[in-house]
Amino acid sequence: MVTATVQYPLRNTPCSGRLAPLAAQTVVGRLPGNWRFLVGCWVFAVTAFAAPPPPPSSQPSPSDPRAAELRLIYFPPHRFGPIRTVAAGGLTVLTDAEKPDDAALRAHLAALEGILDALPLAPATQPASQPGTQPAATAVTAALYARQDAFGALWHRVGVYYDGRFLGARGAGGYSYRPFCATYLDAARPDAIPPELAHEMAHVWLWSHAGLPNDGNWLSEGLATAVQLQLFPSLGERRAWAERVRAGKFVPLKRLMDTAPLEGRHYWQAATLVEMLLADHRDALPAVLDAVTDGRDPNAIVTEVLGLTWLAVERQWRAHVAAAGAPEPSTRQ
Ligand SMILES: [Zn+2]
Repeated sequence: MVTATVQYPLRNTPCSGRLAPLAAQTVVGRLPGNWRFLVGCWVFAVTAFAAPPPPPSSQPSPSDPRAAELRLIYFPPHRFGPIRTVAAGGLTVLTDAEKPDDAALRAHLAALEGILDALPLAPATQPASQPGTQPAATAVTAALYARQDAFGALWHRVGVYYDGRFLGARGAGGYSYRPFCATYLDAARPDAIPPELAHEMAHVWLWSHAGLPNDGNWLSEGLATAVQLQLFPSLGERRAWAERVRAGKFVPLKRLMDTAPLEGRHYWQAATLVEMLLADHRDALPAVLDAVTDGRDPNAIVTEVLGLTWLAVERQWRAHVAAAGAPEPSTRQ
């Protein structure tokens, strides 16, 4: 979901609280000579060698919100009326919309969780709650807004919550950042569950259950889009896409895997690459995920983790696209 990127400035907090040396100086004059010398040395040492205040980028970051806090950020009570909560398993949707009905949403969430649970991904082993580290496994809660403008306003509140350290990106149809994921209903079809709901919830699930950052990397976008396609297969014009690949109209895989955040128009190519990996290299997926999470170079992923050459990966991917066809970009990505 990457069509615009906003970066909030980091807030500088220079106060480092050096009260101890200053307090000590007030009594130094009343001490005998030798003691005065020793205390003076101590004051000098503390003042001179005390650790300087950390740069803004290393200041402690706010932790991720818990469920109750998340709800208040999604739907501040002074701006919204009653909010519905619909849950299935570990997936929850909060919505200010009257439609789609609870049963339809619940069935959708159950189907989505089934697809996610079937992914061959080892769970994250190091739970944590600080931005920049691996997250604790947790339930996924999404906001589904009745109106697009309400969806757009959430962006700012998430930035404020992270104290200016929010480096996520907002797309036209939906977005996710750490535990936050949101989308909105199509005003012309309020009964229809938007495909972006599954896509964004998949991002957060992959982040919270497998430690994969939802920062626009090819694996996260490829998996989220592939999951979305399982629930909305009609979005994929596989035959037309296969034709484009045959005509050479695609991004070289090396560049696709080396670009983050991925442009929205390349999500579907990433999805077909992930589909191929799920079909042909399923056992290697946990290692691929580890490699992407560790920020390893795509060459290492292909040659060391998959044990292949770029040529072989492209050949297998092209064969997958030709056999299954592949989807075309959605207009709301
Ligand atoms: Zn995405």
